[in-house]
Amino acid sequence: MTSVAPTSRGPCDTTPGPMSEAVTRLDAMSEPSIFTRILQGEIPAEIVGETENVFAIRDIAPQAPVHLLVIPKTPQYRNVVELAAGDPDLLTEVVGLANTVAAEYADGDFRLVFNTGEGAGQTVFHVHAHVLAGDLNEKSLGG
Ligand code: AMP
Repeated sequence: MTSVAPTSRGPCDTTPGPMSEAVTRLDAMSEPSIFTRILQGEIPAEIVGETENVFAIRDIAPQAPVHLLVIPKTPQYRNVVELAAGDPDLLTEVVGLANTVAAEYADGDFRLVFNTGEGAGQTVFHVHAHVLAGDLNEKSLGG
């Protein structure tokens, strides 16, 4: 068990202390996401498209006849809200590659889904777009 040494700092003292050092250490130790590991070739996947900053793979557990994932190469953004705020051009590149792979692997029509937050079903916190196409049985979003 690691103990944290008491400090004499008051509540308004913002100089880095043991807690912020611990957070920095945790960040440095955090595991690369499954998508970063795929990008680095550690885990096999079918790469179906790529641009300078974005890549696309086939989902391992497809929920539709065509189910692809479009993923920024950087792991910097956890979800689409962070991505839109932090790098709108990169979000545009994600949508562009989604369009390209939907044209190549389906008939060009597709549903683009960004699960955002655990309650919405997000399991990988490295932003990614689901490209769903083909015979989409789940009609609640499709009209
Ligand atoms: P989400 O639940 O929205 O975070 O989406 C994560 C997606 O990643 C799920 O649809 C998974 O099936 C998919 N996935 C997880 N591991 C892999 C993998 N090794 N290769 C391809 N897709 C994966």
